[in-house]
This record gives sequence, C-alpha cells and structure tokens, in this order.
Amino acid sequence: METHTSPHASPQSSEDRQAIREAVRSLCKDFPDLYWRAVDKEEKYPDEFVTALTKSGYLAALIPEEYGGAGLGITEASIILEEINHSGGNSGACHAQMYTMGTVLRHGSEEQKRRYLPAIAQGELRLQAFAITEPNAGSETTRIETRAERKGDRYLVNGQKIFISRAKQSDLMLLLARTTPYEELKDKTRGLSVFLMDMRSVKGKLEIQPLDLMINHHTTTVFFDDVEIPADSLIGEEGMGFRYIIDGWNAERILIASEAIGDGHWFIEHASKYASERVVFGRPIGANQGIQFPIAQAYAHIEAADLMRYHAAAKFEAREKCGAEANMAKLLASEAAWEAANACLNTYGGYGFARDYDVERKFRETRLLTTAPVSNNLVLAFLGQNVLGMPRSY
Ligand SMILES: Cc1cc2nc3c(=O)[nH]c(=O)nc-3n(C[C@H](O)[C@H](O)[C@H](O)COP(=O)(O)OP(=O)(O)OC[C@H]3O[C@@H](n4cnc5c(N)ncnc54)[C@H](O)[C@@H]3O)c2cc1C
Repeated sequence: METHTSPHASPQSSEDRQAIREAVRSLCKDFPDLYWRAVDKEEKYPDEFVTALTKSGYLAALIPEEYGGAGLGITEASIILEEINHSGGNSGACHAQMYTMGTVLRHGSEEQKRRYLPAIAQGELRLQAFAITEPNAGSETTRIETRAERKGDRYLVNGQKIFISRAKQSDLMLLLARTTPYEELKDKTRGLSVFLMDMRSVKGKLEIQPLDLMINHHTTTVFFDDVEIPADSLIGEEGMGFRYIIDGWNAERILIASEAIGDGHWFIEHASKYASERVVFGRPIGANQGIQFPIAQAYAHIEAADLMRYHAAAKFEAREKCGAEANMAKLLASEAAWEAANACLNTYGGYGFARDYDVERKFRETRLLTTAPVSNNLVLAFLGQNVLGMPRSY
C-alpha cells in the first residue's frame, strides 16, 4: 500500500493535481467494487480502506505539514474524495476528518493542534465524528439543546445528538453544544460552543446507539448523560461555536460536491458501457434515444457542476467570499449525480436492482448527498435569501 506516491505540500500546477488524482486512483484499485459490495452487505466499516488512505497520507491532505500532514489545499482534498467515489468506493467512510479540519485549524489552540493533529495524520487517532444534528432542532442548528455546563476545570455535557456518523469508529468527536440557554441570548447565533472531545477518556455515560439506515454509513444516536470533558477541549472562545462551524461550511460544500461528481462519473461510465453492450431487439440499447439521451444529459450536468466546484475551490483558496459558489456547487453536483444515478438504473433495467452490479448501492449512497450534510432546500434558501435578497423563511 505504501508504494503509492505520497502527497507533497501545496501543489499548484495541474500536473501536480493530475498526479494526486492518479495516485488515489491507483490506491483505490486495491479496493474494487467487490470490496465495497461486501462491506455494504455486511454493514462493516471499511477499515482496510481507511487505513490504506491514512498510510498513503491522502487522508491528512488538509493537515499542514508542520503537524505531520500533507499541507494540501481544498482543491486537492476535493480531488481525493472525488476519486474515491469515482472508483466505486464511498468517501463517506472517512470524509469527516476533512470536513472538521477547518474549524480545528482556524480556531483551535496551538496546544490542541500539537496534541492531536500529528497523531491524526499518523493514523494513531481518528477524528471521524462531527456532532451537530439533534432531534428537536433539525436544520435549525441554533436551536440545539445539548448542554455543556462549565464546572471548574471541566464541562458537564447532557443531551442527545442524532444522525452522528462514525461515532463508534472515531476516537475524537467535534461536538457543538449549548453553553448559554437560548432564552438568555440576545443574538441567537451565540451561546453555542465547539469541543474537540476525546471519547476514549470521557467520564460519565456516553451511549452510542446505531441507527438502521438505507446506507452503510455507521450513523448513530449519541446520548450524553453527565459526560465530563476537560475544559481545555473547548475550541476557541466559548459561545462562538456556531460561527466557527459556519466558517467550515464552504469547504464542506465543496468537498461534498466533489464526492457527488465522482459518483456521477461512476454512473455515467457504467451506464455508457452497459448501454453499448446490452443488446435487445437486435441492437445495443444505447442506440435508443430513450436510453442514450438521459445519460448524455446527466453527463453535461455533471461537467457543468464540476466547473462550479473548481470555481468555488479557487475562490476558497484565494480567501475570497465563496458562499454562493460553494452552495451552488453542492446543489448542482448532488442533483447531477442523482440524475446520473437514475439514468444508470434505467439503463440497467432489472439488473440495476441486483446487488452484484453495484448500481443499487451507489444509487442509495449518492442519494444522501442531496440531503446531508445539508439539505438542498436549505442551500436554495441560502441562495434565495442571502444571495438574491428575497424574504426569509427562517
Ligand atoms: C446518513 C446520514 C448521515 C448523517 N451524518 C451526520 C453527522 O455525522 N453529523 C451530524 O451532525 N448530522 C448528520 N446527519 C444529519 C443531516 O445533516 C440532517 O439530516 C440534515 O441536515 C437535515 O436535518 P433533519 O434531518 O433534521 O431535517 P429537518 O430539519 O427536519 O428538515 C426536513 C425537511 O424540511 C426541509 N426544511 C426545513 N426547513 C426548511 C425551510 N426553511 N425551507 C425549506 N425547506 C425546509 C428540509 O430541507 C428537509 O427537506 C446525517 C444524516 C444522514 C441521513
């Protein structure tokens, strides 16, 4: 595994990016459809894949070199996730480490970074759990109720999170919790705080219950019952957590768009090949416009979404405002991938439903991207309200 080319710092050229793409593609060849199919069927965590990606250095793409990471940019990170999904795999198994990195890097203390990042980069620690969603708040994050109360040199956490992926497979959890009661706040976006919680050493009752979902995502409900965490788990300033999480949203949207683009290419390639080979009524089904055109249409939409993803990533790297572009990339890419998924399933006819062809697995997996980590309705609301200035629904 370690024979694959290792990443190097901040590549700028398209040749460097192509080299990363090819190296990840090569690594993914060791984890073919058969591997992901078995993992999905047995609802296992793809440990071997995550370990290989960690050893190769690509999972630590966004960790700066001074902390033992590859020190790459968001464009390179997005190419890595795209290639995993394009190969037939599912980067949902490990993407949280990249989603959370901005919050830790921008707002974590030097001591926190030195304590955790080198170990994460080495694969000694896993940061794969990102806990925001709650049953009573849903998309309205400022309404979360899980409470973290300061008691001397500790915080006492009580509450419940839902849909928290990989909590059981992770050592660390980036947790958003309420530190000031909602009613006491003038500004409702304050009063929440982010913690980098080491789940191996917490005191109190931390209960993680698996959820039975349509995809193999290791998603859980997490109950906090007088869970004690050291006060130095707090990231940045108390009460500023919502702002810190929002800061990371653009990167997350760009990364999720890339995963969708990878899925989209997988569907288009499989559909085109199958349509060219499957003969019914004496000709390849792909000669029929009812089969060919939806595939071509979805392909055009994926390519267009891809341009928006690079545009958003370039603005992100230039530290320009990119909320509109990052949200549009996420919206367009997840919809294009879903369109490609449907075109592919139609092309495969009944075989699309057979597990051995992998289409139904990828179909289920890519559907998530329109809903999580943020639903496309909320993306449209952002565009309608924040970009176009229309009246607000929330
Ligand atoms: C497999 C999976 C993994 C997940 N992993 C994680 C994780 O690791 N960590 C984590 O914190 N969360 C995770 N989530 C949660 C995910 O981010 C939420 O499900 C998602 O943000 C939507 O929240 P909700 O399900 O509560 O929907 P709700 O907020 O209840 O919304 C339901 C529907 O109403 C729509 N809606 C609500 N308000 C408006 C409005 N104003 N205008 C228009 N439409 C509106 C929404 O768009 C949605 O379609 C995961 C979810 C899934 C399914």
